Amino acid sequence: MTPTAPAATTAPLLAAGLPAVACASWCIDGTGHTDAPFPEDQVCRGATVEVELTRRPLVEVADDDWRRETVHLYLQRRPGHTPVVEMYRGELGESVTFTLDEAEALGLALGQAVQQARG
Ligand SMILES: [Zn+2]
Repeated sequence: MTPTAPAATTAPLLAAGLPAVACASWCIDGTGHTDAPFPEDQVCRGATVEVELTRRPLVEVADDDWRRETVHLYLQRRPGHTPVVEMYRGELGESVTFTLDEAEALGLALGQAVQQARG
């Protein structure tokens, strides 16, 4: 390839981003997602909580980097929608989406199960 103008890779002209959205208080981005390619991509996402599955075998997550499989969950809000909780297992596991009420019910059920088991 032939080199072009030396400043071609810096601050392209008129590459205006999208107008900022009002991020949720828990959004780890917090800047309004102006760099999203489309408005539907202006998604707020909360911090990921990881729970290691201590009875699962070790899996190689990177070159010679072995870890226990984990369950990941985080808050997510798509533009014009109410927040949901996304949860998935493993690195590429199938995700499950919970409404806030569903996530709360699951959390209560898990807590009650643990209380029952521990007597
Ligand atoms: Zn956001």
